[in-house]
Amino acid sequence: MSGLADVVVVGGGIAGSSLATVLARDGYQVVVLERQTSYRDKVRGEALACWGVAELLQLDLEKPLLDAGGCYATRAVAYDEVIDPTQAEAVAAPLDQILRSVPGVLVVGHPEACEALTQAAAAAGATVVRGVGDVDIQPGDAPMVRYEHDDVLHELRCRLVVAADGRMSTVRRQLGIELHQTTPRTIAGGMLVDDLRSWPARQLSIGTEGDLLYFVFPRANGRARLYLLHDIAQKGRFTGPDRQAKFQSAFGFRCIPGSEMFGAARPAGPCAFYPMNDSWTDQPFAPGVVLIGDAAGWNDPIIGQGLAIALRDARIVTDVVRSGSDWSAAAFAGYGEERRERMRRLQVAARVITDIVATFTPAGAARRRAYNAVWQTDPVLGGPRLAPQVGPENVPADSFTQSTIDRILALA
Ligand SMILES: Cc1cc2nc3c(=O)[nH]c(=O)nc-3n(C[C@H](O)[C@H](O)[C@H](O)COP(=O)(O)OP(=O)(O)OC[C@H]3O[C@@H](n4cnc5c(N)ncnc54)[C@H](O)[C@@H]3O)c2cc1C
Repeated sequence: MSGLADVVVVGGGIAGSSLATVLARDGYQVVVLERQTSYRDKVRGEALACWGVAELLQLDLEKPLLDAGGCYATRAVAYDEVIDPTQAEAVAAPLDQILRSVPGVLVVGHPEACEALTQAAAAAGATVVRGVGDVDIQPGDAPMVRYEHDDVLHELRCRLVVAADGRMSTVRRQLGIELHQTTPRTIAGGMLVDDLRSWPARQLSIGTEGDLLYFVFPRANGRARLYLLHDIAQKGRFTGPDRQAKFQSAFGFRCIPGSEMFGAARPAGPCAFYPMNDSWTDQPFAPGVVLIGDAAGWNDPIIGQGLAIALRDARIVTDVVRSGSDWSAAAFAGYGEERRERMRRLQVAARVITDIVATFTPAGAARRRAYNAVWQTDPVLGGPRLAPQVGPENVPADSFTQSTIDRILALA
């Protein structure tokens, strides 16, 4: 069967469904091709950083995520082995005051968010096809997309293909766009839990104790996403049939008051671990095709930027599409340049933050204590710590130079 569209979006995740909703609202004929028939918990991004919330508001997509159960964390408490818990609470970061008009960090389930955004795209007029296979792209001035659905082969001619098909992007591979990757230094895993009723609903926490870094991202009604991160050398630490129990028991941190609550919580999803690294593409576009979100390269999730990156990509690409009739590869050059610098800065931030929070030695703890004492008063040294919330473009460029990195790493 064959058809026509203005834009074909491959991948109905965060990036693809956001972009599809915005363009469909503008009246473009948009088709979203999604491989899954329903979204499942793959232990993925669920905390949208403040600068990502600003993007969400600009795209007018906050409502679907709030309706999907998203809620704002307004306070970050860094319970950590280097600080007394009472002191950690006294210096909690007010997440609702980081950026004007941004109510905090938005915490939302990843499958729920994908479902809500896909439904928003359909409600805005996009055609959403779930359960597609064998997507094949022919790039060019009038690109062609072939795919299989319900054992029938389909062909769509369009003006632009948006590849939003995630980390393992088949479109990226078909176009021969090289993906550069850094070597993982850490492994992170997470699990959704219920019955965490005594945890303050609007408080997220991140900190280090012993040989683990932890994250607590709470949602409504006693549900929370918990993450643990350890050195790559400990690969396999949380494997086996009792991995959930091992995971929960490891959460009994002395630095978190009442941490026995984590052991008593009820698992509400899989417990999965992934190596953490950065990746990038030199040019996330080709004639008739543009890559967005993880498909174009991802940031190390240790600083939780993937959702914000996906939304910024969606916004910039929709701006190009809306701004005129030139959808040629040259029209996306500005997007490529902005993304390159954005990802470079975030890569530096992730590297520095990994050194600060995931060097599991006494010297690492001493450096963390020393960095905690300076990052809020020195805007350059504080850049790698601030960029993940205020946005990488909103901190001094000097924060990302080798000499700044050296100064931070020399702290003791
Ligand atoms: C452990 C971990 C924790 C993370 N935590 C955070 C966090 O707290 N905050 C944050 O901001 N980010 C976090 N991230 C990153 C975040 O999850 C991703 O960056 C974000 O989901 C990227 O969105 P996307 O739309 O590009 O890709 P995805 O959300 O992966 O969506 C891609 C979509 O494409 C579909 N697809 C794939 N192949 C095809 C195909 N061939 N045809 C059709 N459809 C296809 C998939 O089914 C999927 O629906 C985390 C990542 C990991 C691994």
